[in-house]
Amino acid sequence: MFDYVVVGAGFAGSTIAERLASEAGKKVLICDRRPHIGGNAFDHHDEAGILVHRYGPHIFHTNSNEVYEYLSSFTAWRPYQHSVLTSVDGQLLPIPINLNTINRMYGTEFTSFQLEEFFASVAEPRAQIKTSEDVIVNKVGRELYEKFFRNYTRKQWGLDPSELDAVVTARVPVRTNRDDRYFTDTYQVMPLHGYTRMFERMLAHPNIKVMVNADYREIRDMIPHRDVIYTGPIDEFFEYRFGKLPYRSLEFKFETRGVAIAQEAPVINYPNENAYTRVTEFKYLTGQQHPQTTLVYEYPKAEGDPYYPIPRAENQTLYRKYQALADQTDGVHFLGRLGTYKYYNMDQCVAQALSYYRKVLIHAEELATTA
Ligand code: FAD
Ligand code: UDP
Repeated sequence: MFDYVVVGAGFAGSTIAERLASEAGKKVLICDRRPHIGGNAFDHHDEAGILVHRYGPHIFHTNSNEVYEYLSSFTAWRPYQHSVLTSVDGQLLPIPINLNTINRMYGTEFTSFQLEEFFASVAEPRAQIKTSEDVIVNKVGRELYEKFFRNYTRKQWGLDPSELDAVVTARVPVRTNRDDRYFTDTYQVMPLHGYTRMFERMLAHPNIKVMVNADYREIRDMIPHRDVIYTGPIDEFFEYRFGKLPYRSLEFKFETRGVAIAQEAPVINYPNENAYTRVTEFKYLTGQQHPQTTLVYEYPKAEGDPYYPIPRAENQTLYRKYQALADQTDGVHFLGRLGTYKYYNMDQCVAQALSYYRKVLIHAEELATTA
């Protein structure tokens, strides 16, 4: 008899399984319907021997000391500061928009102070910042919004920025200094031997059994267990009782080239041209030395594997109905990006799982043993 079946072996599922097994001494089965562990962070060597991320580029960054320390038990790290160029008006310019971006784009020699004045002169102040359009035009005005954000967002989400919550484009800051880095978090590192290796170590505990190619719906009646931790799509768990929650999907096209380095930056964004949004060259991320190189192109689409919850009010309303149902469902706990319908980064999934373990599961276990 397992104490817990954990559905999904990504960051959320693997963290909770690890804590339950190694700290609380529980017997855990973790299953995934994919043929591997790691969820969307799964990486592997392709035919050319290059380490690639099967579900698109995953760059680890966090401000949480707790999350960094926790994961450091399972991997060594390689320092990595991510940077992105974006193709605008025939130039490749740094994004997030910063002093370098503007001076290169307009041929100006602004100082930071002058750039602040420039932004103030072109901004369209909005009394309330509600949508992904508000966030950007309020800071940098319409022209920059249209060149850098509007079309990328339409392509990525199939929606205009005005139809998406502010949180989406607010992920990308605007700066008046020359900092070209994509992230400024305290910890910016990549697992030295890859994500999959890290997950293997998280799950290598005698109290944890791992089953891949195993959909929870197929195995649940065969495996005696008490509680369930579910990190798949919450609407699917409840058989779409209130209708489908919208998720955005992607198609990934990989291309190996016979050169050591193929593009000028780890990621190049294409807001205004091509059907794909961005192209990533993995060797920048992993630091791998190899005479060839592999790139991935991301093509957004509506149908397919659910990758992104879509942050907008009507979806949140629908999610709340599922959440209320989840609250009434004894013995099942929902976590992760799909289980709680949140546009979470990897570190946020780990933080959520650690906190749920500490605040909810440990107490439930204590109550069960004293009852
Ligand atoms: P997932 O990794 O999705 O794991 C859930 C697992 O559950 C899946 O493997 C699925 O197969 C399994 N599952 C679902 N239903 C069932 C079922 N019925 N039975 C069995 N198994 C089931 N985050 C960052 O921090 N940095 C980045 O650079 C970054 N880049 C990203 C790029 C892309 C293209 C995408 C899509 C996401 C990116 N993320 C990034 C976000 C990151 O992928 C997620 O935050 C994280 O992987 C989510 O972990 P999770 O455990 O919640 O879910
Ligand atoms: N975005 C944009 N132009 C860019 C980069 C980002 O319009 O050059 C918007 C777009 O809506 C995107 C969101 O900002 O979905 C968040 O970007 P991020 O790079 O964080 O996306 P993710 O890595 O999660 O796909």
